[in-house]
Amino acid sequence: MEEEFVYLRKDANIEDRVEDLLGRLKIEEKILLIRGRDFWTTNPIERLKIPSFGMTDGPIGVAYHSSFKGKRTRFPATIGLASTWNRELAFKMGEVMGKEVKMSGRHQILGPGVNIIRSPLCGRNFEYLSEDPVLSSDIASEVVKGIQSQGIASCIKHYLTNNSETKRMKISTEISERALHEIYIKNYKRIIEKADPWGLMVCYNKINGVHGAENKYVLREVLRDQIGFTGHVVTDWGAARRTSGAAECIKAGLNLEMPGKFLSKVMTPENVQEALDNGDINEDDLNYIVRPLLRTFIRVGLLGEKREIIENNINIPEHQEVAKQIAEESMVLLKNKSNFLPLNIQTIKKIAILGPNAKKIFGKPFHGGSSAVVPPKEITPYEGISKYINGKVEIVTKPEEADIVLLFVGLNHGGHMFLNLLLKNEGDTEGSDRKHYELPAKQRKLINETLLKNPNTVVILIAGSPIDVSEWFNDVPAILNAWYPGMMGGDALARVIFGEISPSGKLPVTFPKKLEDHPAHKTKKRFPGDLKDFKIYFDEGIYVGYRYFDKNQVDPFFPFGYGLSYTNFKMSNIKLDKPNLKGQGTFTVSVDIKNIGDKSGAEVIQFYVADDECSVDRPSKELQGFEKVYLQPGEEKTVSITLTDSAFEFYSDTEHIFIAETGTFTIWAGSSSRDLPLHAKITYSK
Ligand code: BGC
Repeated sequence: MEEEFVYLRKDANIEDRVEDLLGRLKIEEKILLIRGRDFWTTNPIERLKIPSFGMTDGPIGVAYHSSFKGKRTRFPATIGLASTWNRELAFKMGEVMGKEVKMSGRHQILGPGVNIIRSPLCGRNFEYLSEDPVLSSDIASEVVKGIQSQGIASCIKHYLTNNSETKRMKISTEISERALHEIYIKNYKRIIEKADPWGLMVCYNKINGVHGAENKYVLREVLRDQIGFTGHVVTDWGAARRTSGAAECIKAGLNLEMPGKFLSKVMTPENVQEALDNGDINEDDLNYIVRPLLRTFIRVGLLGEKREIIENNINIPEHQEVAKQIAEESMVLLKNKSNFLPLNIQTIKKIAILGPNAKKIFGKPFHGGSSAVVPPKEITPYEGISKYINGKVEIVTKPEEADIVLLFVGLNHGGHMFLNLLLKNEGDTEGSDRKHYELPAKQRKLINETLLKNPNTVVILIAGSPIDVSEWFNDVPAILNAWYPGMMGGDALARVIFGEISPSGKLPVTFPKKLEDHPAHKTKKRFPGDLKDFKIYFDEGIYVGYRYFDKNQVDPFFPFGYGLSYTNFKMSNIKLDKPNLKGQGTFTVSVDIKNIGDKSGAEVIQFYVADDECSVDRPSKELQGFEKVYLQPGEEKTVSITLTDSAFEFYSDTEHIFIAETGTFTIWAGSSSRDLPLHAKITYSK
């Protein structure tokens, strides 16, 4: 009787179910499972009640092109999510996405995107989180947990070092073992350890000369043997195409080639059979790669199930509310001279809402590439602000007639991704990188002209990457960085600008004064790379982002972790629960924080750890933990976080593992990487 088959029994142990099913699959069925059927699904095996497994793009919602052209909740860009430094909101975003994936009849979302933001110019920065592996992995882990709480598989991507888009199919990242582990792998390792993602997407590029999809070192040695990843590895779409062939990918531990059809024809039944016949691979190799896929199928409840599309156009206010909360907390107040913001609706008579991004709709099919989510509505800044002021303030179109000008500038997603590639459109988009750190010339002209007509001009940046603000910074009273605030962005912007809530976003990336100051831009070899030899040199090593600026005492324009509020906080009284830590273990650090201003607000307490003395070169300090805290005027709280001995570690390229050395360490606490008023010392011994 079928029902007695262990693999179909929901109460049986998952590994027993996997082994049972593996034992029942014929070799030709296993071969069918490891390559897609079409663009978004795998081949079903009807004989064994294995339906087809369906995927859809992320990471800023459920994408339109991969979910039957349906409208879905469009979240803020994930660089904005990281700016909230709010784990709870990250979980909620994952949870909503998980629900919407299920309603779309799919089993997996291709997100979150977690590549380290190595350069301000990467076209996909808006889909990623941070330049720092601790912030990136802490936020991504919550997104993963949220998605998977709904029985939907996440898919962290794009493993490994796909940190720019230029020539991404061919280029090889040339990187040291230490940097690879200490920055890039660490990010994935922490997510895997904290959240156990059920899927992972391998990159297009090569890592030290070998394509990700056939790179045995990163896929088998590191991911499986060292980190213990239990989910399945899928190629980026078409990424197997440039590898040496089916046998190499299978031996490297790649579990699924996507898509099926014409774009990629590597792990086809013919090729895999031939590799078996030639003895290049054997059935054990095949079993090794089928196993994780079956595990995912069981985890998402695929076996014996029929998944229907429940809703095509999803328009759920509670889901949109989560998008709004993220937008509100993502905004980073970069400048606020003499408390220019928030605006007082009672005293302003005329306002101008101007600039190319004031009325722009960003959620269009394929705009920005595969992450494009089309929402049922998108509240533009203009719409949100006009709704908020509701006739109480007159809206004028000429800057010189207004009391206040709100000028919305920034980037965009170019156009349709394929047009972007053709027309070489610059912007926040998949497939290409930005060429300039500055705003487009037209917008810089617009800012300067507007300022001449009205100095009371607030500049609001709508973009997914750091922007050079140096040219006009001194001339404007306030700058708010709103990233791409998603479908509810206009409402969120109005609430922040008029002071319903204080901005509490903190930069997850450094804004350099000029591009040449940035570690990824010291030479062309580093970025965009040597495009004749198709090599990109990560010569800055472990000194990515603030690690470089701190070590070399280069002043950034805005440091990592920076962001202003409408209120003020005072931190004091740093305490450690123990002066020494021996071997593996934990310690707790606490700080008192008080809201000493007259408005409610939230502050992110950031904890950095510095190794006082070490046998190798190390960053001056590294983020090891953070906590966001909400305080009413006059309110005081004690915030504590618990860290482990891993806070003292670095990657030893002689021992090929993370190690911590005996000695003293300084724990710094404060409100940004360059504002750390408190510190305490702890001694660590092995
Ligand atoms: C992107 C992935 C995406 C895939 C499927 C690729 O071009 O790099 O992020 O998930 O397409 O659309």
